Amino acid sequence: MSKLYPSTTKGIFIMLFSDLRLSAPILKAVHEEGYTTPTPVQEKAIPPILEGRDMLAGAQTGTGKTAGFTLPILEILSRETHPKGKNHIRVLILTPTRELAAQVGESVQTYGKYLPFKSTIIFGGVGIQPQIKALRSGIDILIATPGRLLDHVSQGTIDLTHVEILVLDEADRMLDMGFIRDIRKVIAILPAKRQNLLFSATYSDEIKKLCESILKNPAIVEVARRNTSSELVTQKVILVDCKRKTALLGELIKKNRWAQVLVFTRTKHQANKVSDYLIKIGISAAAIHGNKSQGARTKALSDFKAGIVKILVATDIAARGLDIDQLPHVVNLELPNIAEDYVHRIGRTGRAGNNGEAISLVCVDEYDYLKGIEKLINRKLERETIAGFEPDLTIKPEPIQQGRGQRPSGAPKRKDNAPREYVEKRRERNR
Ligand code: AMP
Repeated sequence: MSKLYPSTTKGIFIMLFSDLRLSAPILKAVHEEGYTTPTPVQEKAIPPILEGRDMLAGAQTGTGKTAGFTLPILEILSRETHPKGKNHIRVLILTPTRELAAQVGESVQTYGKYLPFKSTIIFGGVGIQPQIKALRSGIDILIATPGRLLDHVSQGTIDLTHVEILVLDEADRMLDMGFIRDIRKVIAILPAKRQNLLFSATYSDEIKKLCESILKNPAIVEVARRNTSSELVTQKVILVDCKRKTALLGELIKKNRWAQVLVFTRTKHQANKVSDYLIKIGISAAAIHGNKSQGARTKALSDFKAGIVKILVATDIAARGLDIDQLPHVVNLELPNIAEDYVHRIGRTGRAGNNGEAISLVCVDEYDYLKGIEKLINRKLERETIAGFEPDLTIKPEPIQQGRGQRPSGAPKRKDNAPREYVEKRRERNR
């Protein structure tokens, strides 16, 4: 019989962090973050992880999943007596993007600040030497993206033979981005006896296959998907002509005095264009996408968090996993061509008990995307128009690839439907 773990969902009792058998240094750090009660994924995931079980957790960003695995991992490490001498990598956390790696790394630092463990982050796009130096200094917890991790493996600058716990965070996204072979290569060099934790927002056949090959008798943790359950996010569609979207965005920001908005575009080119336009009309904005240096991305994110920059314009990959608390507004300036990405996008708002608003500016070219999204989330989104920006009903839809304003003039046409950034990510990894 499967073991039952207590839950607040039936309203019988409220679980506290102190009920979770976490030690004082961890509880102190958690309380300093201002968390009072564990989120559902934390309630459900922490006990079985502490028991040493493998886990398959269906949880998206925004559910508190990072603490859901970081807290019990820190607890497990602190329970085992520390081998004297140089530290070994005992925990390996793989993430799909640098941003997510950075955020998980931050969480490990925050929750582990009263513990003696050392952690570091390694990802591509930045110099390898500082990472080699950090690894040499002795690391207990390593957070890495697969491509750069394998670079270290092939250069012999990393020792993964002491890994006790492997976490695959956002495993579905890693597979989407073509990391499956890299993941398998990494797993092949890890010790066979280890605890495996796999977090994924979706459960495709590919994920199922991966789980079957690496998880042993896993505890299964499922929390409500944000797309269907989150009543905290108001979702709205504004119909507008493609070429007037940017002007409408500026108008909405000014008229509603929005102070913090994450705006999504499908392409890097469009992200730059929108950010430039907003700056031109006197609204502080920054673009964040794969062509920006790591330093520029980090600065844009911290300026946005600090309120120095009001509008952050991002592509899907760049925004993936961004940890921005209590984001009040998300605007889809362009709908994503993958319906699942819509769910990830709106997951940036309405977090941890705060209301949020997700507004999609939709033009005639995107009606098929809208239909796909509504099918996925199983509900029809409210549509409206804004006075002065009503769509011209005589305009006929054009395919998005060749569509209005999608391609910088002179840029080559894309050959297929594969999200451009995934392809570029792969290229970057292979460089
Ligand atoms: P994650 O899903 O891990 O990206 O976490 C989403 C956000 O929820 C992060 O900003 C965390 O700081 C926050 N968070 C995590 N656990 C809790 C908690 N128990 N109570 C309140 N906020 C939390």
